[in-house]
Amino acid sequence: EYQPGGYHPVSFGDQFHQDRYKVVRKLGWGHFSTVWLAHDKEKNMYVALKIVKSAPRFTQSALEEIKLLEKVKETNKEAVGWNHIAQLLDHFWHQGPNGKHVCMTFEVLGESLLSLMKRFNHRGIPSAMVKRITRQLLLGLDYLHRECGIIHTDIKPENVLLWIPNVQSYLGHPSQPSDNQQQVQQSASSASLLNQTSPGSTKSRKRRVKRRIKKQQARATVSLHEECPLPLEPSLVLPSSVLDILLVHPEALDRVVVKLADLGNACWTSGDYGHVIQTRQYRSPEVIVGARWSERADMWSLACMIFELLTGEFLFDPRGGSKFSKDDDHLAQIIELMQVVPRSLTTLGEYSREFFGKNGQLRNIKKLRYRRLRDVLHDSFLLPPSEADLLSHFLSPMLQVEMEKRRAAKAMLDHQWLCGH
Ligand code: ADP
Ligand code: MG
Repeated sequence: EYQPGGYHPVSFGDQFHQDRYKVVRKLGWGHFSTVWLAHDKEKNMYVALKIVKSAPRFTQSALEEIKLLEKVKETNKEAVGWNHIAQLLDHFWHQGPNGKHVCMTFEVLGESLLSLMKRFNHRGIPSAMVKRITRQLLLGLDYLHRECGIIHTDIKPENVLLWIPNVQSYLGHPSQPSDNQQQVQQSASSASLLNQTSPGSTKSRKRRVKRRIKKQQARATVSLHEECPLPLEPSLVLPSSVLDILLVHPEALDRVVVKLADLGNACWTSGDYGHVIQTRQYRSPEVIVGARWSERADMWSLACMIFELLTGEFLFDPRGGSKFSKDDDHLAQIIELMQVVPRSLTTLGEYSREFFGKNGQLRNIKKLRYRRLRDVLHDSFLLPPSEADLLSHFLSPMLQVEMEKRRAAKAMLDHQWLCGH
């Protein structure tokens, strides 16, 4: 992909925008871009530098992304949701061997929710943490939808980034030898954080967890020192360390800020679109059948993601078979869970008639195994009945198959499931 039209090749120390930005290390990449930690000489701060592939279609969508990001930045800085979208700082062009690239800079954030899920071994993130994340994402989405008139269209774990403000208060100076006593205390408290995932853990399991945390701490120190070829300010925490801080300082959880990133596929709510949006597992039914979609598509993805954060498994993970397509299976899974087949789905989509017969039954999948969300949560994920009921009551309004009935972000914010944490 490092060829004309593709990514721009970057080496540590490379300078951008009349030498204003100097690259320190890689932060991540996506299908459209590579993202680097860079030092901004003018403001004497670190930024995330996103360098977009140079082919015309990537350039065009990046220019659109900039327009959307500027709208997000300017609309209402006082809104609580403003803080929950990764904000654009600057943008410029860069000419390289593979063409002319759009570049954007953002505030430096930490790991994505995907890394957070991995950190909990894909067995689910503690619900107190998921509630915090959810509340902030609802605020961000409400701001995006109502105030900015923007649909994100690609809500999924890798597009949600974590950050801890004033993070230096949790860090010793990297060059100071760590205090032995403190280490022991740290391990104990991180073990208690991990315990939240498995209430029935035994003593030997606790010991294993402690050992793992020690190893992780050792690795974190290494990554702070070695992955970075240039000297860093002590106040700068590299992104991979946000989760390490949470392990060592569980109390920092109260301060974790969650930000929606990657407006690379976003669009205006006022537009009239028909193209396919969303990553498969988070795709809403109206998009599958090729019907008109709206900002409520983001709410569908959000519900799918919350389920996944809590359980470690996809809510819908469709597969194609010899007699049916992935889309058929996806619609079947949705109908099995929500147990409704609204007319909007069976008749209004461009492809509705490919999927549904005259009586509204699926053409290619006859045998459905209905399963209520509440029962899935209780039977498969062992939630106590009252918790399964409450969570199902929270998720169901966002999983309304009929888009018009699906709840908006603002209306979800006062739900009881979010209270008390
Ligand atoms: P793409 O449009 O190519 O998918 P993204 O905006 O999603 O690009 O960025 C790709 C990856 O780069 C993200 O998944 C994340 O790991 C990292 N990244 C993006 N923005 C930031 C940021 N502000 N701070 C830290 N890492 C970031
Ligand atoms: Mg992305």
